[in-house]
Amino acid sequence: MLSLRSHLCGQWVSGSGAPQILVDPATEAPVAEVCSDGLPLEQGLDFARREGGQALRALDLAGRGKLCDAAARLLHQHRDELLELGMANGGNTRSDAKFDVDGAAATFAHYASLGAALGERRLLEDGESVQLGRSPRYAGRHLWLPRRGVALHVNAFNFPAWGLAEKAATAWLAGMPVVSKPATATALVAHRMAEVLAPALPPGVLSFVCGSAHALPGLLRDQDVIAFTGSSGTAARLRALPRVADASVRLNVEADSLNAAVLGPDVLPGSETYELAVRDIVREMTQKTGQKCTAVRRIFASSALAATLGEELVARLRDVVVGDPRDERVKMGPLASAAQLAEVRAGTARLATEARRLLGDEALVPVGGVPGRGYFVAPSLFASAAAGAAVAHELEVFGPVATLFEAPDDPEAVAELVARGRGALVCALYTDDRRFAASFIGAAGPYHGRIAWGSTKVAAQAPGPGMVMPELVHGGPGRAGGGEELGGVRGLAAYSQRLAIQGDRALLDALVAPKGG
Ligand code: NAP
Repeated sequence: MLSLRSHLCGQWVSGSGAPQILVDPATEAPVAEVCSDGLPLEQGLDFARREGGQALRALDLAGRGKLCDAAARLLHQHRDELLELGMANGGNTRSDAKFDVDGAAATFAHYASLGAALGERRLLEDGESVQLGRSPRYAGRHLWLPRRGVALHVNAFNFPAWGLAEKAATAWLAGMPVVSKPATATALVAHRMAEVLAPALPPGVLSFVCGSAHALPGLLRDQDVIAFTGSSGTAARLRALPRVADASVRLNVEADSLNAAVLGPDVLPGSETYELAVRDIVREMTQKTGQKCTAVRRIFASSALAATLGEELVARLRDVVVGDPRDERVKMGPLASAAQLAEVRAGTARLATEARRLLGDEALVPVGGVPGRGYFVAPSLFASAAAGAAVAHELEVFGPVATLFEAPDDPEAVAELVARGRGALVCALYTDDRRFAASFIGAAGPYHGRIAWGSTKVAAQAPGPGMVMPELVHGGPGRAGGGEELGGVRGLAAYSQRLAIQGDRALLDALVAPKGG
């Protein structure tokens, strides 16, 4: 069986101890194993800080952008192989795997062009200079400087390719070396990516730790950064680590999220906006078997619309063919692991204690695969009273599961119900009524990192709320972790120290000029 390794101190190393087994979630057949005891973690972090940090800081932003460009090209070159691995170890349909792998390449490409545009500078300015003294000569300004540590990236199981890329692209462009750790259960794609990317980069720029290695965050220092994507439980453990607290290690968290889709009272069945909403909701519930941080978990529609919408969603979700993703008829593969299957079953059982099941109770016969094997679930749709519900506003069931609520017509009242999710990554809003939208956005906006507003005029081109664009920030307040990633140049902030500097304006101007830093 394939034995996965880690890339530390510029070389591939194997761990020891009891192996963790990675499986094909459609058949439960083992596909690889990994041991992570005894890895030289401390030395690996030091090597990255020293060698990788120096190599990146020696480059201007255009040079760092070229590293992102090389990464995007390599992912394109190895695309088919990576898609196969996503299908074999992630339970992805080919389309799901493309979403992950192509999303990774597109994100690298975006930061490559940003680097090219920023050009020969090494320092980034934050705003204009301000006069501080009696004459304009004495001035102050703000700069972003690369932190002198290492960026530890801890990723979730659902996006092994995109998770590695979206974090690495911003860190490299900012000038920080990366140690990337994928979730163990689906590490095959990220492992192959590391095999492909690491040799093409200066030593120490990309290190890779495979297997649990949960000791890593406890080894970080004051100039280091952790960017974590995963459950809020693990995030809480990281926040509480003495090393993280004592050294003020910068921690960015992307965690759980009960994303809402809201249809305004103006939306009529059959309208373009309605069709867009239905399409988006079905895709967001079933793409990657609902294992997306941005998936729609709660649907709010006016009382005039809710019943029709419910019937339409049930009809479309019932048509989703579930089974082995290698079978061309299949539109939704299995969940990623036995643990996820157990959690989704437990979660839907909890939802059923307070909500009416519209879909999902029927026996499921997956298409293809090995009879009796695989972590398959059918889509589940529940209906509940928005004000009375507790579980549906609180529990993120990380699978193809959502709850439909009848919503009031008042946008502020809908926003209040949406806010019971206590902070989310994204909200999908469907309305052509500007006033409804303005009130809703004003009231619900502070509970979100992003609102995707679907309306008639953009129905033909809106990619859906689940598509994270590198141009826009990704993250959310409250239970979503309070973090922020991407957003073009904004994404570099997590890996930079903002420095206020005051002095002679001419000298400061020379410092920030291209080639000056
Ligand atoms: P998880 O169990 O929290 O694991 C996430 C990562 O943390 C994995 O790499 C895991 O490694 C590692 N980890 C676990 N315990 C650790 C510890 N004590 N110290 C250091 N690292 C530790 O989450 P998951 O089950 O993979 O992901 C599902 C969750 O992620 C969902 O709740 C979802 O909402 C969230 N998510 C959020 C976003 C977002 O952008 N906001 C995106 C995707 C997913 P091992 O696998 O080796 O244990």
